[in-house]
Amino acid sequence: MPGPTSGAVCSNGEVMVSIGAVALDRPSRSTAPRRVTILGATGSIGASTLAVIGERPEAYVVEAVTANASAARLAEIARSVGARVAVIGDPTLYRDLKDGLAGSGIAAAAGPAAIAEAATRPVDLVVAAIVGAAGLAPTLAAIGAGSRIALANKECLVSAGQLFMKAAGRAGIPILPVDSEHNAIFQILDGRPAAAVERITLTASGGPFRTWSRQEMERATPAEALRHPSWSMGPKITIDSATLMNKGLELIEAHHLFDEPADRLDVLIHPQSVVHGLVRFADGSMLASLGSPDMRTPIAHCLAWPDRNSVAVRKLDLAAIGSLTFEAPDATRFPALRLARAALDAGGWATNMLSAANEVAVASFLAGRIGFLEIARIVEESVARGSAIAGRRAPATIDEALALDAEARRIAIGLVEAAKS
Ligand code: NAD
Ligand code: MG
Repeated sequence: MPGPTSGAVCSNGEVMVSIGAVALDRPSRSTAPRRVTILGATGSIGASTLAVIGERPEAYVVEAVTANASAARLAEIARSVGARVAVIGDPTLYRDLKDGLAGSGIAAAAGPAAIAEAATRPVDLVVAAIVGAAGLAPTLAAIGAGSRIALANKECLVSAGQLFMKAAGRAGIPILPVDSEHNAIFQILDGRPAAAVERITLTASGGPFRTWSRQEMERATPAEALRHPSWSMGPKITIDSATLMNKGLELIEAHHLFDEPADRLDVLIHPQSVVHGLVRFADGSMLASLGSPDMRTPIAHCLAWPDRNSVAVRKLDLAAIGSLTFEAPDATRFPALRLARAALDAGGWATNMLSAANEVAVASFLAGRIGFLEIARIVEESVARGSAIAGRRAPATIDEALALDAEARRIAIGLVEAAKS
C-alpha cells in the first residue's frame, strides 16, 4: 500500500513528497532554463513536446533528440531547437543524419546503444516518447543517470514494470506520467493522503469502434481504425485505442505508477475525452481532472512540474460541450481489456508477453496481413503459449525482459503467418 503523501521541506530547499511507490524529490523552484532530452522526438508526443518547448524557448535547453528512421526530420528538429546531439536508431541512416547536420556543430550518432547513451547525458528531464519496448533500455539508462523522467512510453511499464519502478525508487527518480489519464491521476493524488484512495478510474474515449458490432469490426480496415474520434496520436497507440488494448496497457501502467492492486483500478468509457482520470477516496469524495484532449497539457505539466506554465491549448468550455457521458466498457466486443487484466493478475512475465505480442499483431494489422479481430486473438494465444517458456516469473533484469519480449514476438509472428495461410 502506498504511504501517505507529505510535503516536508528538505535542507536543500527541495520538497519531498511520496506518491505511490516512489518518493519524489520536487526540484526547487528556479528560473534557470531546464535541460531536456527528447527520446522519440519525431513522433506524435515528440512533436507536442517540441510545440510546448517552442512556446517558451528561453525556459528550456534541449540536450539530445533521438528518432528511429526519419533522419532528415530529426536533423531539422535538432537544428530548430539547437540540440547538442542527435541520434538515429537505424545505423544505416548515420550518413543521412550527419549530412543533415552539416555545418550545425550538432553531434550525430546512430544505433540503439547510442540512443541509450544519449539518454544518460546529464539533464533535468528526459521525455521518454519512444513507442514500444524499444524505449525500455534508453529509459532505464536515463533513470540510471539520475534524470527525472516524463514517461509517455507506457510499454516500458507493461514490459518490465517491477524492475522499472524499483530502479526509479532506488535512484529516487520521479516518474512523471505523460499519459493523459495517469497525468490526471498524478495531479489529483499530488499532496493528498494516498492511503485514503479507494478506487482509481481511467477514462477511455471508446475509440472509433465504440458503437460497432463484432461483425462490423471483423471487416474494419486500418484506415478506419486509424480514424480516432478525439485524439491525434501515433499509429500504434491509435490502433490500441480502437481495440481498447491501450486502456488495458494503461491499467497495467497505473498499477505500477501508483502501486495500486488491479481490483482498485477501473475503466470508464467517456466519449467526450474531457474527464481524464478520477479518484474516489474513503470518505466518498471523488475528484476528477479535466482538460481538452490535447497532449500538450500533460506534457506541459511534466515539463514545468512542480510549477505550471501556460500553454496555447484550447481551454475547456464546459457550457459549449454541454454534457459529459459515461458508460461501462463492453468486454465482449473488446476482449483486449480482459486480456490485460488477466495478464496483470498472472504477473510481469504475462504483461511483458502481452505487450510484445500486441506490437507484432498491431504492426501486422497495419500492414494488411491480419484482420482487426485477429489482434486480440493473437495476443491471447501468444501469452497462453508463452507461459511455459516464461516459467511464470516476472523479468528481474533488462536482459530477461528483452528475452521474454523476443520469445513473445517469435510466437506472435508464427501466429500471424498461420493466420495468413
Ligand atoms: P509515434 O509512432 O508517433 O512516435 C514514436 C517515436 O519513437 C518516433 O520518434 C520514432 O522514431 C521512435 N521510435 C520508434 N521505434 C523506435 C526504435 N526501435 N528505436 C528508437 N526509437 C524508435 O508514437 P507516439 O504516438 O508519439 O507514442 C509514443 C509513446 O507515447 C507510446 O508509448 C505511446 O503509447 C505513448 N503515448 C502516446 C500518446 C499520444 O497522444 N501520441 C498519448 C499517451 C501515450
Ligand atoms: Mg492515455
